[in-house]
Amino acid sequence: MPDSSCPICDEVAGRRSAPGGAIYDDGLWLVSHHLGPYTDPGELIVKLRRHGEALGDLTAPEAAALGPILRAAAAAVERTIRPERVYVAAFSERVRHVHFYVLPRTASMPAGHVLSDVYKRGRTLLRGWGVARNPSTAARADAATRIREDAAWTRLST
Ligand SMILES: [Zn+2]
Repeated sequence: MPDSSCPICDEVAGRRSAPGGAIYDDGLWLVSHHLGPYTDPGELIVKLRRHGEALGDLTAPEAAALGPILRAAAAAVERTIRPERVYVAAFSERVRHVHFYVLPRTASMPAGHVLSDVYKRGRTLLRGWGVARNPSTAARADAATRIREDAAWTRLST
């Protein structure tokens, strides 16, 4: 495991915490709210618990667990946040640790991943400058709590 240069390993080690704490943790994968200060409630990140940089290096148990976890995360976000769509994406470019974004695309956001990304970049700047309303950390924690309590997590193997 790398040192503190990896923010995901920092969270797994307890040196950073997401709003609302862990939503799901099976010892292989950790699901929690996005830690970004300008994110919307319900933006999740599904993270490999161990430091691994390539999807192709997942163990068989990690790979087998991933599909049901992504399904549960998307279903829980759909039911609690009620977005138009749920986007799931993995880049692992800036943070080279396998992780997936589970992002609600709400009716107030433009459709399409490119427009949505541009919108989010603009939103982050405006919220950072104090021009646009920024949801509170408490609102993010509340979303994490509601998502954690969704029935999707009890149905991972069915
Ligand atoms: Zn890491």
